[in-house]
Amino acid sequence: MTTTQLQHPGAGRAQTPATPGIDYEAFRADIRRLVDDVIRPNADRNDREGRFPRENLDALARAGYNGILFPKELDGLGLDHVAFAIAAEEIASADASTGLIYVMHVSAAQTIFLFGTDDQRERWVKAARRGAIGTFSTSEKATGGHFWHNVSQAQRRGDDYVIDLEKSFTTSAGHASFYVLSTQTPGAQQRSDLTWFIVDGSSDGIRPGAWDALGVRANHSGPLRLENVVVPQRDRLGRESQGKEVLFDGGSPSYLLGLGAVWHGVARGALAATTQYAVGTVHRDFDRRLADYQILRQELGRSKVLIESLRPWQHALAAQLDALQAQGKPQGELLFPLIELKVHAAEVAAEVTQKGLDVSGGYGYKRGALERYFRDARAGLVMGPSNNIAREWLGKNLVGLPLELWEVGGE
Ligand SMILES: Cc1cc2nc3c(=O)[nH]c(=O)nc-3n(C[C@H](O)[C@H](O)[C@H](O)COP(=O)(O)OP(=O)(O)OC[C@H]3O[C@@H](n4cnc5c(N)ncnc54)[C@H](O)[C@@H]3O)c2cc1C
Repeated sequence: MTTTQLQHPGAGRAQTPATPGIDYEAFRADIRRLVDDVIRPNADRNDREGRFPRENLDALARAGYNGILFPKELDGLGLDHVAFAIAAEEIASADASTGLIYVMHVSAAQTIFLFGTDDQRERWVKAARRGAIGTFSTSEKATGGHFWHNVSQAQRRGDDYVIDLEKSFTTSAGHASFYVLSTQTPGAQQRSDLTWFIVDGSSDGIRPGAWDALGVRANHSGPLRLENVVVPQRDRLGRESQGKEVLFDGGSPSYLLGLGAVWHGVARGALAATTQYAVGTVHRDFDRRLADYQILRQELGRSKVLIESLRPWQHALAAQLDALQAQGKPQGELLFPLIELKVHAAEVAAEVTQKGLDVSGGYGYKRGALERYFRDARAGLVMGPSNNIAREWLGKNLVGLPLELWEVGGE
C-alpha cells in the first residue's frame, strides 16, 4: 500500500503561483511586528474571557495576510505556502487561538480559490481583504474524528438547497463570514460521498453553540447548528458528491501545513517564554537564577532540539506544495508527509509546553502565558486528523495494510 491511496484525480481549477525571489526573513520580521503590536498583548485576556480576537483578524486583513495565497486580482498578496506557514507560525507563537482561526480561514478560502467559480472567488475570496473570514465545518458527532464521513444530508428545494444539521466542532463558529461545509446530497451512495457548500455566515438559521474548553478558548470551536438554512445553488462548491476530490485537492494540504506551523509556533513561543522566566527568576538565598540549575537547562536544551527539527521540514514541505501547485499537479502525494509534520509538531508542542511548566514551577502553574500554551497545545493532538488516527494511517501504510478510508464504518 502506498501513499497513492490518498491521491485523487483532477486538480482544482486554479493554481497558486510560486513567488520568485521573496525575502522570507524580511516577511517574518514584518508579520512579527504586527504580532507583537496587536496579537500578543491581548492573548491572555482573550483566553481568560473566551473572547473572539476580532481585532487581530481585522489587523491581519488590513495588512493583506488574510489573502496571503491569492493573486492580486483577488486583492491577495500573491505569496506562497512558505510565507503562509511563516505567518501561521509567527501568529501562533503568541496566540494559538488566532493562529488556528487564521489557518482555517486561509485553507477554507483556498478551497474556494481552487474549486470555486469566478463568481464565488469574487464574492468570498476577495472579501478577505475587507475582513471576511471563512472556516471549515465538517465534523459531526455521529462520526467523531472521521470528519470525512457525514451522516447529515442537504435537501434540494427548486434550484437551491436547504441544510438542517448540526456540526460538532467549527472554529470561528458564529463569527465566520462563510463556512466551507460538507454534507451529503440526495443520491449519495456512501457516507464519504460529500457535497461542499459555501454557507453565508449571515444566513437565517445559523445557531452557534457555546465554546468552553481546556485550551484555544478564544477561537470559538463549538458546535454549529444550521436550522433550515437556504443555500443557493451558486454557492455549491464543485459538483454534488465531488467531496473526496475537493477534500484532497482543495484546502487540505494548506490546512495540514498550517496546523503543523501553528503547533511549531506554539512550541517556539512557549520555549521563549520559559527561557525568559528561567533567566529572570532568582532564588535570593543562594543568589542563583533558575537558569543556573543544570537540570532546568537540560530541559530547555531538549526543547530546543525538538523544535529545530520543525522549521526546515515545514519550509521544505511548503516549497514542495508550491511546486506541485505551480505545475498544476494534484497534491495527494504530499498528504502523508504533511500529516507527519502535523503529528510531530503537535507532539513537540505538547512536550515543550509541559517542560515549560516543569521549569517554571508554581508560578508557571498559575494563570498566564505558560499554562495557556500548555492548555492550547493539547488541542493539537485531537484536531483532525487526530494524532491517533494519523499514526494509524501511517502505520498501516508502512506495513502494507489497506487504510479502508472510505468504507462505511472504516477508518
Ligand atoms: C480546538 C478544536 C477545533 C476544531 N475545529 C474544527 C473545525 O473548524 N471544523 C471541523 O469540522 N472540526 C473541527 N474540530 C473537530 C476535530 O477535527 C475532530 O473531528 C473532533 O475533535 C473529533 O472529536 P470526537 O470527540 O468526536 O472524536 P472521536 O472520534 O470520538 O475520538 C475519541 C478518541 O478516539 C480516537 N479515534 C477515533 N477514530 C479512531 C480511529 N479510526 N483509529 C484510532 N483512533 C481513533 C481519537 O483519536 C480520540 O483519541 C475541532 C476540534 C477541536 C478540539
